[in-house]
Amino acid sequence: MSEENYFRKGLGNKDEVAPLLHADYHSGLVQYFRRSGYRLDAGNTTIRLAREFGFCYGVDRAVEYAYECRERFPDRRLWITGEIIHNPWVNRRLEEMGIRFLPPASTGTDRLAGVDAEDVVLIPAFGMENEEFRRLRDRGVILVDTTCGSVLSVWKSVERYAREGFTAVVHGKMQHEETLATCSQVRKYADAHYLVVRDEAQAAWVCEFIEGRLGSDELLTRLDGSYSDGFRPEAHLRKIGLANQTTMLSSESLHIQKLLRDAMVRATGTEDLASRFKSFDTICSATQDRQDAVRSLLEEKIDLMLVIGGFNSSNTTHLLEMCLPHTRAYHVEDAACLISSIWIRHKPLGDHGPVVQDNWLTTGALAIGITAGASTPDREVGATIARVLSFRGTPTKEIEELSRTGSALESEASGATTRGGPPVIRP
Ligand code: SF4
Repeated sequence: MSEENYFRKGLGNKDEVAPLLHADYHSGLVQYFRRSGYRLDAGNTTIRLAREFGFCYGVDRAVEYAYECRERFPDRRLWITGEIIHNPWVNRRLEEMGIRFLPPASTGTDRLAGVDAEDVVLIPAFGMENEEFRRLRDRGVILVDTTCGSVLSVWKSVERYAREGFTAVVHGKMQHEETLATCSQVRKYADAHYLVVRDEAQAAWVCEFIEGRLGSDELLTRLDGSYSDGFRPEAHLRKIGLANQTTMLSSESLHIQKLLRDAMVRATGTEDLASRFKSFDTICSATQDRQDAVRSLLEEKIDLMLVIGGFNSSNTTHLLEMCLPHTRAYHVEDAACLISSIWIRHKPLGDHGPVVQDNWLTTGALAIGITAGASTPDREVGATIARVLSFRGTPTKEIEELSRTGSALESEASGATTRGGPPVIRP
């Protein structure tokens, strides 16, 4: 594929789009927190922001390339193969810029039918299925590939498994774009297979099969099609290699690896285990950092947590899952979900959609923790914090002043991160 038709390292106009990106995604209030110990005391309200939250390096890069792409090809039709990231505000913004979304693969239609050779197609951070990539490449369209490096390293692992005759067991969600793309890398190799397990319960079925406690037909029925064509447990679970969707709960991925390894040991012993079982750490460091930051925040007294991110964002849901055993926690998509100091729209863990609930923001002294998934821009985090402060009685002009101060601190060349301890706003 020629260099003019395939871009993987930017389009060379980063400086031109930088002011627009700053205007769309920057938050002075978030900068204030970053430079003030991630904490604000306002009267009887304490807000604690997780030390790692929001846009990860992969998402940052994908969004930047989308803006570069629009600037570089103003007269061409520009498509994205799916949501560039799982954040409705970001996706709406791209639509406003004239970027079109291809229909989801699940519609069953040929979703590439409307793409012409003159068009530009953006591949999101999750990547895309190899078969579609090849069709677009053969058609001669310009491809701007923002597939994250951490996703590429998962692909390398599963390809290595495929080459060496190991079946890839992927901890992930079968219909998630990233997992679909990962599985497609296995299909590049004849007679290679994959299997997707969503959670520990599904991994346990695979273990039961390996140890001879579950029949092959029963396993296939339970896994409900989450495997490659022609997958036969009795032939294809003799040699397995573990991988995962990068945004899964890292502790669960590690536990699944252990469950399967232990099952292999019980079934066939430890001798020469490496020839039957492989695993590589394919957990993305940004996901890990956000999960670690929440874990550390929850070591302190937090009365309620707000977890901000798209309702269909996998990594945001996992952050919520981590919070719930410790405190009240609400998964909100954006600041508008905080309807008032009484009502909140949030998505409970495991529900299919959001619900509206009352009495979320209790009175009296309150320590509120905030985090955000990897596809949430700072401006949504800042808007959410501003709304909480406002509901808790901080005057608008004080919030605006904090925001101005944050922007000014950001601009300072010193880069100091703490200025005399956490700030205090008097009620
Ligand atoms: S969550 Fe991780 S793998 Fe996904 S885009 Fe961000 S850095 Fe890349």
